[in-house]
Amino acid sequence: MSSKDGFRATFGYEPTGTWVAPGRVNLIGEHTDYNEGFVLPFAIDRSTTVALSSRGDSLVRVASAFADELVELPLAELAPDRLAGWSAYPLGVAWALGEHGADLSALPGVDLYIESTVPVGAGLSSSAAIESAVAVALDETWELGLDRRALARVGQLAENKAVGAPTGIMDQSASLLGLEDHGVFLDCRSLESQVVELGFRAAGLEVLVIDTKVSHSHATGGYAARRASCEAGARILEVSALRDVTVDDLARAQRLLDDETFRRVRHVVTENQRVLDTVAVLRSEGPLAIGELLDASHTSMRDDFEISVPELDLAVVTARENGAIGARMTGGGFGGAAIALAPREAIEQIAAAVRAAFASRDYAEPATFTVTAADGAHRLR
Ligand code: ADP
Ligand code: MG
Repeated sequence: MSSKDGFRATFGYEPTGTWVAPGRVNLIGEHTDYNEGFVLPFAIDRSTTVALSSRGDSLVRVASAFADELVELPLAELAPDRLAGWSAYPLGVAWALGEHGADLSALPGVDLYIESTVPVGAGLSSSAAIESAVAVALDETWELGLDRRALARVGQLAENKAVGAPTGIMDQSASLLGLEDHGVFLDCRSLESQVVELGFRAAGLEVLVIDTKVSHSHATGGYAARRASCEAGARILEVSALRDVTVDDLARAQRLLDDETFRRVRHVVTENQRVLDTVAVLRSEGPLAIGELLDASHTSMRDDFEISVPELDLAVVTARENGAIGARMTGGGFGGAAIALAPREAIEQIAAAVRAAFASRDYAEPATFTVTAADGAHRLR
């Protein structure tokens, strides 16, 4: 059912507009965001759609194909501690727009219906897709005139405060700033971003996502521990963030840090360099030359940052053995998905080989599907 049909069925009248925002895949740059470093995600051809209409009163009502409930609240009563569950994402965005200057006590209420083709919890950021779709829909409806960077901060604020997830700004930036066949090269310190041509289509390449279905069960504790190691490393090396440590500084870092902290730092420092190298190689030689950087990123996450799991390692190795030019786990780690960059004609063989390898080890059946780099959030009609 489309979001328009869902809107009609839920609210009994026609929506005035429909907005869409994509999920994202991170091509390279993992655990670099909170170290004020670099990331290179791209928006994908799976997205969340929001059908919306203004109301005559000040009520905001949200419904989703994802959940069997209608949640409603007066706009002026939106506050992080009043929000919970899935509706904290869309309602949190409305609240966060208030924090960015929207006068929620004067604006008209809205009815919102949400529908999505971004799988939830597969590492493709269904959360940023819903935040960004609601953000562009409300920004236009309420005539707020916020730019894309501000809307990315709105989504992040909603996720940090209303949902309570301590995430960075990468996902929202990709969803709002993405462009067909381009990556979004983001400096997480200055928040400056540039789109970088990927050239996958012309090179005959596709990106295969392999969702291991392994849940991020250690994710919360592991994520916090990795952040703490990075902060400890930065403190001992006397920099405000690991962004300020370069590959040339690593010999000195090794003398000053214990082995585990050193390896955590080495991942972040080399990963930042790999993002810069990937952007440079894409511009100079094109996408066929970035495979080694993707592979090196995975090795660094497996051995130095220690956030991979056997299923992700198997997916990556199998993809490479079956024709991928590069492969790596993507996302926060401890489960989730891997990506393989491969010639179009090798994709099916890789997916079949990964499924067979998983079956032979009695791992749960992975989901495999291709994604292409797509446009960021926009109005549909
Ligand atoms: P992901 O990796 O997919 O971003 P998150 O845990 O960050 O995983 O976000 C997933 C959550 O976002 C869901 O549990 C749900 O609360 C919310 N969400 C995502 N898509 C939708 C949707 N279409 N409708 C309602 N809520 C959604
Ligand atoms: Mg998310």
